[in-house]
Amino acid sequence: MKNITIVGGGLVGSLLAIFLAKRGHKVNVFERRADPRTTNVYAGRSINLVVSHRGWTALKAAGVNEVVERIVVPVYARMMHDRDGLLTRVPYSIENRAIHSVSRGELNKVLLSEAEKMPNVHLHFHEQCVDVDLDNARCTFKNDITGATASIKADLVFGADGAPSAVRQAMARGRFNFSQEYIEHDYKEVAFPSNADGTPKMDPQCLHIWPRRYYMMMGLANQDGGFTGTLFMPHTASAVIPEAGRSKIAGPGHPESHQGPGPAVYPGFDTVRTEAEVTAFFQTHFADAMSIVPDLVEQYLRNPQSNLAIIRCGPWTHKDKVALIGDAAHAIVPFYGEGMNAGYEDCKVLNDLLNEHGDDNWTTVLDAYGKQRKPNGDAIADLSMRNFVEMRDLVADPRFILRKKIEGRLQAKHPDQWLPLYSQVKFTDTPYVDALREGQRHDRIMEQVLAMPGVEEKWESEEVERKALELLGGSR
Ligand SMILES: Cc1cc2nc3c(=O)[nH]c(=O)nc-3n(C[C@H](O)[C@H](O)[C@H](O)COP(=O)(O)OP(=O)(O)OC[C@H]3O[C@@H](n4cnc5c(N)ncnc54)[C@H](O)[C@@H]3O)c2cc1C
Repeated sequence: MKNITIVGGGLVGSLLAIFLAKRGHKVNVFERRADPRTTNVYAGRSINLVVSHRGWTALKAAGVNEVVERIVVPVYARMMHDRDGLLTRVPYSIENRAIHSVSRGELNKVLLSEAEKMPNVHLHFHEQCVDVDLDNARCTFKNDITGATASIKADLVFGADGAPSAVRQAMARGRFNFSQEYIEHDYKEVAFPSNADGTPKMDPQCLHIWPRRYYMMMGLANQDGGFTGTLFMPHTASAVIPEAGRSKIAGPGHPESHQGPGPAVYPGFDTVRTEAEVTAFFQTHFADAMSIVPDLVEQYLRNPQSNLAIIRCGPWTHKDKVALIGDAAHAIVPFYGEGMNAGYEDCKVLNDLLNEHGDDNWTTVLDAYGKQRKPNGDAIADLSMRNFVEMRDLVADPRFILRKKIEGRLQAKHPDQWLPLYSQVKFTDTPYVDALREGQRHDRIMEQVLAMPGVEEKWESEEVERKALELLGGSR
């Protein structure tokens, strides 16, 4: 059995510790922050997350699904809020399946407690990894209370230290590919209160979405009747050429913005700063949310603004000594709600590979792990950006809603042939790479189906169904 260091005791590091300890390995988890069970390290960053099928698959495999089930809220549908406050409910699955909302902090606490129950797991808080000697699986930690440094030798090191990963930085000193891409949008979180009697002000079994093309707000239920809202808005204001369509966004000063009848300017976080600007912004774009969250403007002014980046890197492993897992290997944008689920799937796949090859064959196991997971990390990064466009623009588009209805009908009648992309990602263990490929094929098919004359009226007809199935059969 191996002596294993896990750097990072967040969502993925804590689950990985459970998996490895159950196999009999000696596991030491070193976490930079304080113990979230005794200090509110999540204060001001209370975001909740969606656990989906592949997250549950991993939690079950680790034997901790039941403790997590106690702290989740089921979410069955998207609820779109239009500018006039009108609501449209679109179920996630025709079988009424749910994804589950959970508080990030509560989930982390539960998993740390489960890990700590095992005698071969030791948790160390306030320990920041500052360097890694990859060949010798030796990490240097700096204690942020005492300032003391310690050098810890192990047989194997896992970097579960999230997007800014120190383990990855050490790997990047060698032959290592790395890219980091900031997206145009940043985000801020706002708390939606419950009613005075603790009941929710919106349907808690829906993910609430305010799609506004250049902005988007989401609300996800908490167990206490409140919601965590997330506002996504461009980092900087944009000038948009009306004729250029939705995809052409030119920044201020961009030559394109001087063509045509003149660009429309859409504010960004950089231009929505004063109380008057924030109030005007919400009144224009999210008026109904203002009535649900009376202190929306104050929260916006008070709460931190965070950016979003996609990190791709490789290889994820160094010999039989070091491996990256979770966001350290594949930080993605949050629009599919799959970052943590993908990290949990990493843990499950690693565990499966250990079952297959044994616990003394780490060279083979880590090699297979990296080869299998890296393409899937890249695919979920692409899928997540794709879902951003869908949530921001398309959910408010009648063509998109028509497509969802046709796909729902196809799925109901031919479940063995047509499983929509969203269902593949959220309700199956289909590798992300395969789901992405299948989703692209569905796009091509539905483009032709939606081009059928009169499809709006006859979408429930045999003719539309036949056309879709013919195209499906012909495009394999
Ligand atoms: C707004 C938003 C919404 C999201 N929604 C969802 C969702 O609905 N569903 C979903 O699946 N995912 C979601 N995600 C993604 C999810 O948060 C991440 O994928 C997940 O947190 C990754 O877990 P992790 O353990 O790999 O990294 P992290 O959660 O970042 O944990 C890393 C841990 O390592 C510690 N650490 C960092 N550096 C060091 C160091 N040098 N030494 C020691 N410790 C260190 C950190 O303190 C932290 O505890 C969302 C993300 C955002 C930003």
